[in-house]
Amino acid sequence: MDLKLYDTLTREKRPFTPLDPSRVRMYVCGPTVYDFAHIGNARPVIVFDVLFRLLRHVYGAEHVTYVRNITDVDDKINARAAEEYPNLPLNEAIRTVTEKTEKQFHEDVDALGCLRPTVEPRATEHIGEMKVLIERLVATGHAYVAEDHVLFSVPSMADYGRLSNRSLDEMEAGARVEIAPYKKDSKDFVLWKPSKPGEPAWPSPSGIAAPGRPGWHIECSAMSWKHLGEVFDIHGGGIDLVFPHHENEIAQSRCSFHTPVMANYWMHNGFLQVEGEKMSKSLGNFFTIRELLADWPGEVLRFNMLKTHYRQPIDWTLKGVAESFDTLVTLTSDPTFISGKETTIAPPVLEALSDDLNTPKAIAELHALQNKGDVVALSSTLRALGFSRRPQSPRQVDEQKVVALLDARNAARKGKNFKEADRIRDELTAMGVLLHDTKDGTTWEIGR
Ligand code: AMP
Ligand code: ZN
Repeated sequence: MDLKLYDTLTREKRPFTPLDPSRVRMYVCGPTVYDFAHIGNARPVIVFDVLFRLLRHVYGAEHVTYVRNITDVDDKINARAAEEYPNLPLNEAIRTVTEKTEKQFHEDVDALGCLRPTVEPRATEHIGEMKVLIERLVATGHAYVAEDHVLFSVPSMADYGRLSNRSLDEMEAGARVEIAPYKKDSKDFVLWKPSKPGEPAWPSPSGIAAPGRPGWHIECSAMSWKHLGEVFDIHGGGIDLVFPHHENEIAQSRCSFHTPVMANYWMHNGFLQVEGEKMSKSLGNFFTIRELLADWPGEVLRFNMLKTHYRQPIDWTLKGVAESFDTLVTLTSDPTFISGKETTIAPPVLEALSDDLNTPKAIAELHALQNKGDVVALSSTLRALGFSRRPQSPRQVDEQKVVALLDARNAARKGKNFKEADRIRDELTAMGVLLHDTKDGTTWEIGR
């Protein structure tokens, strides 16, 4: 089966040829850990989990290395730490925030059926590698020191900008770069910056600048180098990372190692919006993974994400999630799904996924397997793709149990034991059953 992947850099779908099939290497930019991840953040996690599973199927589980970093040094983290733990020393507050958020992130993405990556490096544990890269860039004229910062010199790289393919004007306008007088060129970006008093600080590379901390882009160049080498197979993330983050990663890594590419395939998922609008707290359409997991099984959220091809935008709607629920209940309805253990991807599904991860087509093929009655293949494919449980409908309740509880409640009320009657009502409410007491007796309905 030929796997084809779309490469953002060359703008074409190409057959995937790993540099070394016995060690297929993928890097995906991970979370900055200061708050609960939102449903948009879940998209790259789920999409690249499917790719990870596909690569493991094709090359063997032990032949695929998936690295997803954790950014644990960042201005937003510092701000959150100071706000949430004003009485702790800042460094301790930062550690508390990052450890807590990392744990929450793991719980959330585990619930979405995602495998843990092979390595999850933390930025703060790779400052040494970042310094080595920065020192190399300075030594070769690709970076310079200015006012205690170290900056990458964009004009020093002849073919800077190929990934995002922007004009110089667009880059200048869109870089969201701080206008800083010490920059030789407005496109130059920070490799190292001084820390404010009390903020985490490390001695600067070769002592050339003030004690401080690395810029965001250099983190990924350092961690991918450490864990995957100078050039690797796949680099992924959301489409918003193409510029400036990935463009700058490429500049740093290629100029440090004198290589023609950093990764052979650059893959980017499209953006997710909610109920037709960009997610935002002020519009009330901002959802964390955690909030959605309170209402829906993780498998359903995963399935809903995969109904859309990863490069297309997704409009995440409640209606869509409810439909995904029903579809997944149907696909997992055969007892084989619960009783079986085997995991393998059935050929028609494999073919769909091999075409640049065509998950909508793969889902159509799952339905075709069910229609053909090939429930063993269907079940083992679902499991192989991270669907390990049949979603339990909060709308499906055990009617016999409801009736028994209603009888018990009526008996309690007759015996004037209102405390017990209220307790039973609460138990029913917790099951999603709402009671209506009328003069003709009690009716009930299933709420959500
Ligand atoms: P951030 O924490 O903002 O750096 O985002 C972490 C990952 O989530 C990156 O790969 C982003 O591209 C991705 N991401 C953030 N927001 C969305 C969204 N609304 N839709 C899809 N991907 C997103
Ligand atoms: Zn990155």
